[in-house]
Amino acid sequence: MRRSLLLVALLAGASSLRAQGAPATDAAIQRIWTLGMDSSQTPRLAQQLLDSLGPRLLGSPDMKRAQDWAIKTLGGWGIDAKHEQFGTWRGWRRGYSHIDLIAPRVRTLEGMMLGFSPGTNKKDKVAETLVLPHFADSTEFVKWLPAVKGKLVLVSAPMQSCRPTEDIVKNGTPATISRDSAWRAENAREWGGRNVRGTGLSLALGGGELAVRLEEAGAAGVISSRPTNSRGGLALFETYTTKVPTVALSCEDYGLVFRLTDNNQHPKIRLNLDAELLGEQPISNVVGRIPGTTKPNEYVLLSAHFDSWDGGSGATDNATGSVMMLEAMRILKQVLPNPQRTILIGLWAGEEEGLVGSGAFAEDHPEVLKGLQAMFNQDNGTGRVMRVGAGGLPNGAVHLSSWLKQLPTAFQTAVPFDGSPGRPSSGGTDDASFACHGVPVFGMGGASWDYGVVTWHTTRDTFDKVVFDDLKHNATLVASLAYLASEDPSFITRERVDLSTLPAGGRPGVPARAGGPPPMRAWPTCTPVPRVTKPRLK
Ligand SMILES: [Zn+2]
Repeated sequence: MRRSLLLVALLAGASSLRAQGAPATDAAIQRIWTLGMDSSQTPRLAQQLLDSLGPRLLGSPDMKRAQDWAIKTLGGWGIDAKHEQFGTWRGWRRGYSHIDLIAPRVRTLEGMMLGFSPGTNKKDKVAETLVLPHFADSTEFVKWLPAVKGKLVLVSAPMQSCRPTEDIVKNGTPATISRDSAWRAENAREWGGRNVRGTGLSLALGGGELAVRLEEAGAAGVISSRPTNSRGGLALFETYTTKVPTVALSCEDYGLVFRLTDNNQHPKIRLNLDAELLGEQPISNVVGRIPGTTKPNEYVLLSAHFDSWDGGSGATDNATGSVMMLEAMRILKQVLPNPQRTILIGLWAGEEEGLVGSGAFAEDHPEVLKGLQAMFNQDNGTGRVMRVGAGGLPNGAVHLSSWLKQLPTAFQTAVPFDGSPGRPSSGGTDDASFACHGVPVFGMGGASWDYGVVTWHTTRDTFDKVVFDDLKHNATLVASLAYLASEDPSFITRERVDLSTLPAGGRPGVPARAGGPPPMRAWPTCTPVPRVTKPRLK
C-alpha cells in the first residue's frame, strides 16, 4: 500500500514537472526541453573544458588547445566548425609560479604571475622589497627611480583588513565601519587611477606604464595585489614588463610583505617562475554552422566569448556562456538538423582584450550582418537567464515577444518581458560588436550569484562555481529561442528606437539608475578592431 502510494506520488511529481516545462503545441520545443533538461551534457563539457584544458588567455597555447577541443566537440555532433584567424596577438605560455617569503621567516606565499609576465627561467631569484613611496610629482618620482635597482617593488595598496565589507558592516562598531570605509576610499585615491602615489603613471591592469618604468630602472620585479571584496579573491590581469616578472599576491600575503617592508624588518622574497614569451601568434575565433535550407543566407548566431583571464579557469567568465551555446548546438543539431536559416555558433577570442574577436567577425562578415535574424549573447556568469533584451530594435521586440510566448511555461515565468525595445548594447561584452551595426542583438542577463565580488577575473573562477541547474536552463532556453528565430516566417527589420525620446532608464516608467551612466542619446558607433597586439598601458 505504502509502496504504491509512493509510486503514485512520484509519477504525479514527474508529470507535473513535464507540464510545467513544455506546452503541448510544439513538438520541437518539447523535444528541446527533454534533451536539454533531462539529458544535459553541460556537466561533462564543463568538466573537460575547465579541469582538463583550463583557462584560455588570448595568445596562449592553452587557448589554442581549448579551441581545438571545441571544434572536435562540435564535429563529434556532426556540426562543421573551424578556426577563423583574424589577426595576431602577443603569445605567452604560463608555467608554474612559486613565491616564498624566506626572511625574516619562511612562508610559502599565495600568488601568481600576471598574464604575459616574464618568468625566472625556472631558477631561484631572491630579492629585497621596496614600497613605492608617495611623490609630490612625477619629477620627484623620476629622481627616486634609481633606488629600485635590484629590488622587488610593491605597487599596490595594503589592505587594513582582508575581511569583506559585509563582515565588517555586520560585526563592526560604527567607528570600525567608518574607519574601514575611509581607508578603502583613501586607498583608491592614493593607489588607483592614472596617478598612482603621485608618479603620474597608471598600473592599468596590474602591469601598465608604472611597471614598465620600474623595469626600465632596473627593478628585480613588481609585486601587486588586487583583492576582491570577498574572502580570498584575487583578480589577475596582465603586465607589459618583458624582462622582469610582475606577480600578484593574495590580499593578506601582500599585506604581510608590505608591513614587513614598511617596518624595516627586511623581508626577502624568492621567486621561481616558469613562463615563455612567444612573440606575435595567430589568433582565431571558433565558428560552427548548421546550414540553412530554405534561407541559407539568413542567420541565427549563438554567441559567447571563449577566452578568459587565467588566474582561475575562466569558469563563469565565460566557460559557462560557451558551454551553454555548445550544448544548444548539440540539441539543435538533433531537433532541427535542417533549419530554414543557417544557425551559427561564434566562440570569440579576445573579448577580455577589448571585444577583439567578435568585432573582427562582424567586420569580416558583412553577409552575416545583412542576413542576421538574431544574435543571442550570454556573458554575465553562471546564473539562470532572467532577462532578454531586444537591443533597441522595435521589430526585434515584437519577434522576441512572440517567441517567448511559445516557450515552456517555466521559461515564460523565468524570463518576463514587457515588450519594450530597450537600448542597444554599447560595450562590456560581445553583443556591442554587433549592436553598433544596428542588427538584431538579444543580450541575455542572468542571476548574479557572486560574479561581481568573487569569480569575475579572479583566481576563484573555477569549476565549483558553475551552477548546473542554471546552466542547463540557459542552454535549453537559448536552443528554444534559436529554433523559433530560425523557423520564424518573417525577418526582423532594422528600424531603431528613437533614443532621444527614450526615458533615462531605457524603458517606459524606469528612472535612470542612481550613479549610473548618463542616458544613451545616440546609437553606439563601431570602432575598428586591432589586428595585432594593442598595448593597454594606461
Ligand atoms: Zn566575460
